[in-house]
Amino acid sequence: MPHVRFLLFLFLSVLIGQETVAQSSPLTGVSVVRRSDGLGHVIRFRMTSPADSFRIIQPSADLIQVAIYKAGIRPESIRIPALQAPLAGMRLHAIPGGVGVDIRLTPQSYYIARAYPDANRRDLLVGTTESNAREIGILTQGMNAVDWAEINRPRPAPETVPDTTRAEAADTLALPLPPAPPTTLGGARLRTIVIDAGHGGRDTGARGRRGTLEKDVNLSVSLKLAALLRENLPGVNVVLTRSDDRFIELAERGSIANRARGDLFISIHCNSHRTSQPFGTEVYFLGLHRSDDAFEVMKKENSVIALEDPSTRSRELTDEELILYELTNTAYISNSQYLAGLIDVQFTERARRKSRGVKQAGFVVLYHASMPALLVELGFISNPNEEAFLRSDDGQDVLASAIFRAVREYKSRVEHE
Ligand SMILES: [Zn+2]
Repeated sequence: MPHVRFLLFLFLSVLIGQETVAQSSPLTGVSVVRRSDGLGHVIRFRMTSPADSFRIIQPSADLIQVAIYKAGIRPESIRIPALQAPLAGMRLHAIPGGVGVDIRLTPQSYYIARAYPDANRRDLLVGTTESNAREIGILTQGMNAVDWAEINRPRPAPETVPDTTRAEAADTLALPLPPAPPTTLGGARLRTIVIDAGHGGRDTGARGRRGTLEKDVNLSVSLKLAALLRENLPGVNVVLTRSDDRFIELAERGSIANRARGDLFISIHCNSHRTSQPFGTEVYFLGLHRSDDAFEVMKKENSVIALEDPSTRSRELTDEELILYELTNTAYISNSQYLAGLIDVQFTERARRKSRGVKQAGFVVLYHASMPALLVELGFISNPNEEAFLRSDDGQDVLASAIFRAVREYKSRVEHE
């Protein structure tokens, strides 16, 4: 529909034209839209080129603070759009190397905010999601609001400041300092893929009625997946955390991935239930569990901790750690979520499995891998039909091929957008 596109182009040109009155400011405008699912808002910071880096913090339920680092931003030239509750106000402050933004919320509203680069790789989006007093309580605990004016004030020489004051000031100012540029979905390279066959050795994982061991299915599918990747994506380095039947601790699996400088970590598992009915696939990425089902799966997959050496044993993640992970690893999370969706589609459409969806939970093995990371549940080994499928060579081929296709698509999207 070239006609519509042309009109849209005209319309955008007019919009951009109006805003570039503030010429050469890389931030040209701010707009707010309600999310289509009604659970929050998306605030778009329109940029002519991507920010060097950004930070977001939520020091209290009614305040979201965003620092956008890009030289030449002129906050005074930006018109603040009309806001609807729960958004109550927005102010922009010039800071060294960028702009600090205060976003006020109405009292008694509880929203989690995340910042992420838009798919066009220029704009910065701040999304809010409805939450509750408890989550926001955990999130904001011990956090101080950034005083943007304080950042602009010349700092006194250290020796003139008593130690206690200095510590406090450092604490307040630590957050908005520019971190490394975020890995965006569009900018990443997929050079090394780490495949983690869940369980192994003395840790058998779940066991089917016909005696199928989860660790064996996980290893078979992982080896098949590795072979497909090596054969069809020759430039990609494929690393397996294990290629035989051995025990590896959860944290060590992540360390193997980090040492290999992995760009992607996929942990392969099979689900189980005390009854034989449930069946179907699930794909997880790291975050706070928001359903009882996800919590149960997380408990099961983390339970290997009990078999680990007491001196190096991992521990369960706290809700605080998971909420902070979600807020500080938005690039990993958006990449993981994206690939999880692709795998879910492949499981349903190509492998003809029943999808139980894409979910989040606090898997220790994913937490230790510093890269986009997923945990795949291939099916329920406790369901006799699915057990037969999971132990069959054909079934394993179909599952490995479904994951392979999703990874191939992810790679092309990540690298060519
Ligand atoms: Zn498992």
